[in-house]
Amino acid sequence: MKPLADAQRDVLAAMPELPVVDEPLGSALGLVTARRVVAPADVPPFTNSAMDGYAVIAADLAGVPVRLEVLEDVPAGSVATRAVRPGAAIKIMTGAPLPDGADAVVPVEDTRPGDGSVEIMAAVPAGASVRPAGGDLAAGAPVLEAGVRLGPAHLGMLASLGVPLPPVRRRPVAAVMSTGDEVLPPEADLSPGKIRDSNRPMLRALLAEVGAEVVDLGIVGDDATALQAALAEGAERADIVITSGGVSMGEYDLVKAVLAELGEVDFWQVAMQPAKPFAFGTVAGTPLFGLPGNPVSSMVAFEQFVRPGLLRMMGATRLFRPRVPGVLDDEADTNPEKTVFLRVTTRFADGRWRAALSGGQASNVLSALAAADAFAVIPVGTGLVTAGSEVDLEMFRWPETRTAAEALG
Ligand code: AMP
Ligand code: MG
Repeated sequence: MKPLADAQRDVLAAMPELPVVDEPLGSALGLVTARRVVAPADVPPFTNSAMDGYAVIAADLAGVPVRLEVLEDVPAGSVATRAVRPGAAIKIMTGAPLPDGADAVVPVEDTRPGDGSVEIMAAVPAGASVRPAGGDLAAGAPVLEAGVRLGPAHLGMLASLGVPLPPVRRRPVAAVMSTGDEVLPPEADLSPGKIRDSNRPMLRALLAEVGAEVVDLGIVGDDATALQAALAEGAERADIVITSGGVSMGEYDLVKAVLAELGEVDFWQVAMQPAKPFAFGTVAGTPLFGLPGNPVSSMVAFEQFVRPGLLRMMGATRLFRPRVPGVLDDEADTNPEKTVFLRVTTRFADGRWRAALSGGQASNVLSALAAADAFAVIPVGTGLVTAGSEVDLEMFRWPETRTAAEALG
């Protein structure tokens, strides 16, 4: 058996990087910066008020309460036409440019407005409630390194800098097919011996989540000609091809036979559970991932190989899901020769993560995967995990916290 880390290294080393494109901000969510981004200008672009209140000279307020003449009123989006001088103030809204002469803003709640004047009730130091130009991002400062996966706040920040097209690597295209004569579309009525296709909807969703576009090659029966055609189409239209099923030891594991003939594909027995059988290589030069057919194995193999591989193609620095330490509430007897991915439901309680087995741990039990938020990752050499043991939790979903009832109550 091939150690998991070796298998992951071999996959990652084989992934080509996608080309760099200019992507509009509106469609860049989840894509990865291909170059360092430097601030072309200051943000904020001008020194401005952090509060609704009065722009003043802080030294004027030594003997509060003091009365100051109000020279004008500056709403956000406008600029004062006059400078603040000793004995005077300018009424100012949050975000409006600090008028010349002023060095602080007194919040409106610490004032009593009068006719043409204002009474200041509390002194403030110079710089109070003032946001300096460049205080968020200074012109010339690096704001994003290459390899950052863009999230909503990154997009907002790039917009504030006037960078409408961050240089990113192109969105990957992944072709996906399910294989097997027993597999029917989800909407089909079952006949004896048939099951519905769980893997394709699941894999499509996993691909969407990582930011890939999907070419859906449908369900391909255990037929060499059909498999060859589907593989060729996938290799032609996509950056990677994903198959599920047909890569284990069975006589009808045709995918294996066809891949062996058509592509440069290795068939691995990875020291992991689930998802031991796994095929990896190329078909017509396009990377191919042959995932096992059992649905839980399919997702585990996706998570451990395809997702990091895609992120690598996209140029991301960080490739693997977050892990947190936690306590396993249940006992689990695991195979000491394999890295075991237990499906667990997690919760954060009393300052620590706790995990419970989310259901049956056989590789066909999709209900337990659906109930899970994480894999408890049990290293090679462990064997029996007693209840209360410390485990690493690889979070593939973060459980939401407060319920509506808790928040409203
Ligand atoms: P295979 O690797 O093709 O022998 O498949 C292993 C097991 O996974 C068998 O029980 C298959 O019926 C099942 N399986 C294969 N593909 C799918 C799929 N797309 N959806 C649900 N189960 C599947
Ligand atoms: Mg099959």
